[in-house]
Amino acid sequence: MNYIVLDLEWNQGSRPAPKDVPTFEIIEIGAVKLDEQFHIVDTFQSLIKPQIYNTMHKITAELVNLDMDDLGDAEDFTKVAAEFLNWCGEEYLFCIWGVQDLTEFQKNMDYYHMKPLSKGPLKYYDIQKLYSLACEDGKARASLSHVVEEENLVEEEVEFHRALGDAYYTARIFQRIQNRDLLERISFDTYRVPISKKEQILWKFDNYTKFISEGYDEKSELMANKNITSVRCIYCEKALRKKIRWYTPNNGKHYYTVAKCSEHGLMKGKIRVRKTKDDKYYVVKTVKHIKEEEAQFILSKKRKNEA
Ligand SMILES: [Zn+2]
Repeated sequence: MNYIVLDLEWNQGSRPAPKDVPTFEIIEIGAVKLDEQFHIVDTFQSLIKPQIYNTMHKITAELVNLDMDDLGDAEDFTKVAAEFLNWCGEEYLFCIWGVQDLTEFQKNMDYYHMKPLSKGPLKYYDIQKLYSLACEDGKARASLSHVVEEENLVEEEVEFHRALGDAYYTARIFQRIQNRDLLERISFDTYRVPISKKEQILWKFDNYTKFISEGYDEKSELMANKNITSVRCIYCEKALRKKIRWYTPNNGKHYYTVAKCSEHGLMKGKIRVRKTKDDKYYVVKTVKHIKEEEAQFILSKKRKNEA
C-alpha cells in the first residue's frame, strides 16, 4: 500500500457558481507517492487547461504563481485526472493538508462525469490534523507554510502554493510525525455519504467512536431515528441510558448528550447534522469517554441554554 500525498491548486469565478458547477476549478494536480516505510518513491505534477473559468480570480492570482498563459497548453481535467489516478496505482490511501482537496477533486470529477473514487465516504489522512495531534493541542490548525518553517523543512527550490511544492512539504511533515498511534487517526471525506444502512460507518478510535449515517430526505427524520440517537459504550458497546436528552445549542446544527455505562463511566455524545450535495441530511455522531467534570460542564451549558 502506498500513501498518495495530494495537493491541488484551483481557480474560481467572480460570481457564485450555479448549483452543478464547481465553485473551484482545479488548475493543477501535484502529488508525492510514499511507500509503507514513508519513503518518497515518485512524484506527479500536471497543469490543467481551464474549461469553466477563463480569467484568474484575484485570490488565485495573489496566492498561486500561475496565470492563464501558463495553462493554455495544458491538457484538460478529465485527461489529467485519469493519468493521475492511473499513477496512484491499485492500493493507496490519500493524504492531504486539511479537509478540502478531496471534496473539490470529487466535485470536479463529477462535473465531467468521471467514475467516482468510491461509492461512500473516502478514507484519508488529514496531515494538518495529525500534525496538530502530534505537536500542538490536537485542535489548532496551522498553515502549511507556518509548520514547514517551524520544522525547518524549507527548501529553496521548492515553491509554496504550487501543487507539487505543497504536496512535497506535506509529505515531509508526514514523514516527520508518523507513528503507530497517529496512523489510527483516519479521516473520512463525506462528499459521498453511505448509500445504505448497511454501508454506514462506525469507526472505533482509542477514546472515541465515529458514526456516519446514510442520507435522509428530511431533517426531521434524523433525531427521530433510534439508530442515530442511541449512544453505545465505546468499550463494551452496550446501549447506554442517557443522563440528559439530546439538546441543541444552535438550532439543530449540533446536538449533545451525556450517557453512562455502569462499567466504563460517562460518555459524551455529539451529533453534527450535515447536508450532502444532493440535499440529503446525514449525521456524524461521535461518542467519547469523558470525566465527571466535563459531564457537569455539559449539564450546566444545557441548563443555561434552556434558561
Ligand atoms: Zn461499557
